Amino acid sequence: MPTVPQIQMVDLVGQYKKIATEIHQAIDSVMESSAFINGPAVTRFGSELAKYTGAKFVIPCGNGTDALQIALMALGLQPGDEVIVPSFTYVATVEVIALLQLTPIFVDVNPQSFNMDVELVEKAITKQTKAIIAVHLFGQSADMEPLLNISNQHKIPVVEDNAQALGASYQFSDSSIARTGTMGAIGTTSFFPSKNLGAYGDGGALFTNDPSLAERLKMIANHGQKQKYYHDIVGVNSRLDSLHAAILSVKLNYLNDYEESRQTVADYYDSTLNDIDELTLPFRVENSTHVFHQYTLLVKNNKRDALRDFLQTKGVPSMIYYPVPQHLQKAYLGYGYKEGDFPISEQLCHEVCSIPIHTELTEEQLIHITGSIREFFGK
Ligand SMILES: *Cc1c(COP(=O)(O)O)cnc(C)c1O
Repeated sequence: MPTVPQIQMVDLVGQYKKIATEIHQAIDSVMESSAFINGPAVTRFGSELAKYTGAKFVIPCGNGTDALQIALMALGLQPGDEVIVPSFTYVATVEVIALLQLTPIFVDVNPQSFNMDVELVEKAITKQTKAIIAVHLFGQSADMEPLLNISNQHKIPVVEDNAQALGASYQFSDSSIARTGTMGAIGTTSFFPSKNLGAYGDGGALFTNDPSLAERLKMIANHGQKQKYYHDIVGVNSRLDSLHAAILSVKLNYLNDYEESRQTVADYYDSTLNDIDELTLPFRVENSTHVFHQYTLLVKNNKRDALRDFLQTKGVPSMIYYPVPQHLQKAYLGYGYKEGDFPISEQLCHEVCSIPIHTELTEEQLIHITGSIREFFGK
């Protein structure tokens, strides 16, 4: 076995150690105030994130799945209303639709960007369509300009699931630039530890530029109340802990550095793996930056699983995001979709292979990872 330091998909320990002193100061200050719920640390982090993203309002909440649920609740959808959603995504995007007794209407994705195919969105619209959820998958923005045009034309709000792309920017044809999560009616994100901005536990947030939506989101996340013990609408209990907010405030200062480290890794992979015919490297869309939550290869000729087995023998981990498209998940078969309905999503599930990308990868590790991949392909 080669003597390369153990390689992980994400290295949260290494990242933590570099900022440990600041993290402990932040934790200590929350401990001393003992304002564990909705304390000043939460308000502060909310405004820092608003400043960072340019969103007018940021509402912290318990996790990224709650954020999606709260977003759909705030839009006032009724059971049976249709929500258009890509089939190639993480389950949370679909789960909240089902939980609220709404109907997911799946659409296929673009084979290069892996994001929602906007032309298919327009075709999927019916009188019952009441929302569209765009997912900025793997760190790159969905094609928001045409999507927002459709949204405006049909008066159907867009919710952006920005759990994987916090920090990415999208450029419109008039050259204006906006952060992902701030362009639709509501944006959502997750601070799950392995996300680009990760807490040391669960966390999430909602973004909007609309003051009345902001008020509804805030109320719904807090038992439907504005004033304690007066409940005007049905809500949930979904809070970001003050401890996590304080930790996230520290880490937000490093988000740009983290993004740069991820891009350096991606550039290295791009330049080292680009002569392997049986691999398709991540496509970079023209109008979005890529914050590389994942670096996802497509492996041709049914070699994906053999590649993964080989890499494992070399101490190189890899993951399949995602092995099954949502329309074929057992839980959602009741909606009547079948194999063949979304061929691109299905094909991607057979070919995707995400390799390690995080903020702590060393040059030695990168050489080992790419060397192992090249060896598999006889290069
Ligand atoms: C992680 C993730 C979520 C859910 O976030 P949690 O904080 O784990 O609930 C939702 N959507 C996408 C695309 C994600 O990657």
